[in-house]
Amino acid sequence: MTGGRLRAPRSAGIAISGAQAFFRHGQRGGAAAVRRQRRILEGSQGPVIQLQGQRVLNFCSNDYLGLASHPALAAAMKKGIDDYGVGSGASSLVCGYSRAHTELEQALAAFTRRPRALVFANGYMANQALISTWCGRGDTVFGDRLNHASLIDAARLSGAKLRRYRHAEPASLENLLDTTRTGMRLVCTDGVFSMDGDIAPLPPIASLCRRYDAMLLVDDAHGFGVLGNGLGGIVDYYGLDAEAVPALMATFGKALGVYGAFVAGDDALIDRLVQAARPYIYTTALPPALACAAFRALELILEEPWRAELLQSLIRYFRQGAGHLDLPLKDSATAIQPLVLGDAEAAVRASRALLERDIYIAAIRPPTVPQGTSRLRITLTAAHTEQHIDRLLDALAAVI
Ligand SMILES: *Cc1c(COP(=O)(O)O)cnc(C)c1O
Repeated sequence: MTGGRLRAPRSAGIAISGAQAFFRHGQRGGAAAVRRQRRILEGSQGPVIQLQGQRVLNFCSNDYLGLASHPALAAAMKKGIDDYGVGSGASSLVCGYSRAHTELEQALAAFTRRPRALVFANGYMANQALISTWCGRGDTVFGDRLNHASLIDAARLSGAKLRRYRHAEPASLENLLDTTRTGMRLVCTDGVFSMDGDIAPLPPIASLCRRYDAMLLVDDAHGFGVLGNGLGGIVDYYGLDAEAVPALMATFGKALGVYGAFVAGDDALIDRLVQAARPYIYTTALPPALACAAFRALELILEEPWRAELLQSLIRYFRQGAGHLDLPLKDSATAIQPLVLGDAEAAVRASRALLERDIYIAAIRPPTVPQGTSRLRITLTAAHTEQHIDRLLDALAAVI
């Protein structure tokens, strides 16, 4: 029917080796160990996946609550497609903003206990929108050294000066705030650090921001839906309201198991984003069916709090077992459990050895993490079982 238009051309193989040549010439020593590769997932996300013909235990997704292939979310998305079609058709300010988006925004505002929320296509763009709306040339963005790349890129693109403080050290931030007295000041931090799993010391950071009259943006991609009594993430965990954390950002692609992101804050903040944020204005709105699925995910998180509880107990189970093995495990109480192995080759070697034992954990290397701290970023989900974790621990004992 398509006359072969959608089949890969025979020369595709040549194109790939061209790319390999680029990488050989474009990268310095040890290029093989940092060359990035995509492995093909056949079928849905979950604790057991089919990876290029191999059935493996998966310990590297961000699907913390095991919702990415949940039938209730799939049903909500299908219903969303019946109601709204597949594409949103336009940007939000033209005619792409649907009833599904507005209902999701209201639910997010209630869930996060903030006056309003704004849905974005993804987290990368939400961060860019926030930072570039608040800061430009002559202003300063302060960021934790281990912040997610999207925050760093957003600061760079804004044209503001980026000053990075020592990881999770409010004293270092204060020092920088103290010596930067001109222009707008915006502090941004991951809530849960994406490659380390530790939780930002938010209360002292929030009070510094108030004292120095700086805007605070918290990117809680990895805490939202799993941390805090109400599962509202790091702000819920610490009990910080919209005054303490004026700009809260989180994504739907992690614990919610879907795709997309949001910013929550007061009326003035959201209105300013809608009026001025180019990464909001000049992009096609999230497909409404995704908003329907994200809405259903929020409901499910509240209806079934056992998922987050089970995740916590699996984290404890894993750490207890790992404690007997003397592994180079970072101190983390979240679903992100990094094993730091040093150079990129060591991480790649360990990842390959685990794959031979039908366990998949992608090696995380520079520039995602600093040189010399390449790692296996183990992630646990509520869909894992203690038996899965036993198998992981046995394999780690043999391989590390
Ligand atoms: C995943 C992630 C993002 C990007 O969100 P997307 O919706 O995937 O673009 C931003 N910040 C952090 C900390 C993340 O982990």
